[in-house]
Amino acid sequence: MVKAVRGMRDILPEQARRWDLVERAITEVIRGHAYEAIRLPLLEFTELFARGVGETTDIVEKEMYTLADRDGDSLSLRPEGTASSVRMLQEHGYLYNQTQRVFYAGPMFRYEKPQKGRYRQFYQIGAEAYGLSGPDIDAELIGLGWACWQALGIESMVRLEINTLGSGDARQQYRSALVSYLSPLVDQLDEDSRRRLHTNPMRILDSKNPETQRLLENAPKLPDFVDAQSIEHFNGLKDLLRGLGIPFQENPNLVRGLDYYTHTVFEWITDDLGAQGAICAGGRYDGLVERLGGRATPGVGFAIGLDRAVLLHEVAQERAAEGAADVYVCVPDQQFLEAAMQTAQALRSGLPHQRIRLHMGGGNLKKQLKKADATGAQVAVWVDQQSADEDVLTLKHLRDAVLGQESLSFDAGVERLRQGFVAQG
Ligand code: ATP
Ligand code: MG
Repeated sequence: MVKAVRGMRDILPEQARRWDLVERAITEVIRGHAYEAIRLPLLEFTELFARGVGETTDIVEKEMYTLADRDGDSLSLRPEGTASSVRMLQEHGYLYNQTQRVFYAGPMFRYEKPQKGRYRQFYQIGAEAYGLSGPDIDAELIGLGWACWQALGIESMVRLEINTLGSGDARQQYRSALVSYLSPLVDQLDEDSRRRLHTNPMRILDSKNPETQRLLENAPKLPDFVDAQSIEHFNGLKDLLRGLGIPFQENPNLVRGLDYYTHTVFEWITDDLGAQGAICAGGRYDGLVERLGGRATPGVGFAIGLDRAVLLHEVAQERAAEGAADVYVCVPDQQFLEAAMQTAQALRSGLPHQRIRLHMGGGNLKKQLKKADATGAQVAVWVDQQSADEDVLTLKHLRDAVLGQESLSFDAGVERLRQGFVAQG
């Protein structure tokens, strides 16, 4: 039997039902905002992405499926939609002296390491607006994303991070400052960052390497370079988001992997899908049309990762079926049932505003933690032989890999939980 190509997605009937539902919910919301559907080709000249996405981005450097056409042209399967959409609208005269609001949906291809939420054939739904330069359209697009999450019932599972990259000039100046700061430290950078230092240094801010992040603590900061006009734009956006009641966090390290962004960038992030946290990303790309040979035309948009949206929808539904809790008390050893019940009681009086659920029905700890996860609980707590011997509680932070697991005396454990919930608001 010939098997599927690694990373290409097979979506079976049971899954396809959820896919249809999620896809339909999102496209209905987008249509409801009066965006028009467009359909993009799967293949484009490689040059389109090299110029549009950027020669030094991960996508173009190492993720594209590129092939030679029979007549020798270099073609690539589309790794994203924006460059194609600009190409298409420009080619057909849709960007000249007019505004456009469009959306597309379909598979994209990137040669990446396949894992949960990351595939080589994956699906995006993207919405974009051209010819509009104010923060109002940025806010509309972010509001559109928010409306999608509400339609899917996942709005409590995602958070919005925003940043501004400033104008093209500001970005250039920052880039130079960053390179000057990092160059003498090059030996201490991780391998990817070392390579990026001379190709795409701002991507270093994205590095997940703790050592690199430590070096960046004293690096020049992007917000210090951003021009007054961009700040005004950004403030305008933040005011509008507040007015719309959309919560956001500013993240000065959010730079996005694509070359074409200027001014606003944003990501919708979830903690419920492990390492693949971004379910939607976007921003403003005022320089892109010109870069692809057209007249300067402002543009802004986002792409939702449909595979991840579907996974999150599934988690949300499992959670709804399970019933929500904030703290889940496991009973890994029936011998300590009484201790677990006492713990649950004491937590309820110590944390009167949180929902404390005691596990019922046995099973090993691993199984119970899975249930705990499905309730959306922040923390699982338990007493087993070891913790009883040491007279402590074991706490596992289910949504925070850094905090991980810890053993604390009972009072310290309750205090720890209380602080955690206060910090979250
Ligand atoms: P990541 O940092 O996860 O690689 P990205 O910055 O490369 O994401 P974008 O190019 O901005 O992603 O694409 C927008 C969205 O498409 C992402 O937020 C994500 O939800 C989704 N996406 C990107 N690459 C993949 C992939 N290989 N498999 C599944 N979804 C993906
Ligand atoms: Mg990527």
